Amino acid sequence: MAGEPQDDCLFCKIVAGQIPATIVRETETTVAFQDINPQAPTHVLVIPRVHYRDVATLAAAEPAVAADLLRETGEVATQEKLESHRVVFNTGSGAGQTVWHAHAHVLGGRGLQWPPG
Ligand code: AMP
Ligand code: ZN
Repeated sequence: MAGEPQDDCLFCKIVAGQIPATIVRETETTVAFQDINPQAPTHVLVIPRVHYRDVATLAAAEPAVAADLLRETGEVATQEKLESHRVVFNTGSGAGQTVWHAHAHVLGGRGLQWPPG
C-alpha cells in the first residue's frame, strides 16, 4: 500500500533502524542523516518515514509530510550552520535518482555552482 514500508528499500530500513546511519535530526515524520558518499562538506539526506518513490508522489499523497520534509531541510541547514545551501530532489534515473524512497539532499559548506550539471 502507498506509504507503507517496502522490504527491499534501503531508506525504509534506515527508518526502521535495521541499517545504521549517522542521524543528525529526527521528527515524528522525518529522519535526516549523513549521506554515505558526501558531495560537499555538508551533505545530509532528509527523508519521510513513509515510503513514496519520489518527492512529487509524496507531495500528492501526503502534502503535510512533504511540508515537514521541506521545513526540515531548513532546520538541517541551521543546525549545520550553513550560510548558503542547496536542496536537491533527483527524480528519475536520468536525473541521478538511485534510491526510490523520496529524499532531499541538503548540500553546503562550499561554493555551489549554478547551473548544476
Ligand atoms: P539519489 O542518487 O538522489 O537517489 O541519492 C541517493 C543518495 O543516497 C546518494 O547520495 C547515496 O550516496 C546515498 N546513500 C546510499 N546508501 C546510503 C546509506 N546506506 N547511508 C547514507 N546514504 C546513502
Ligand atoms: Zn522506503
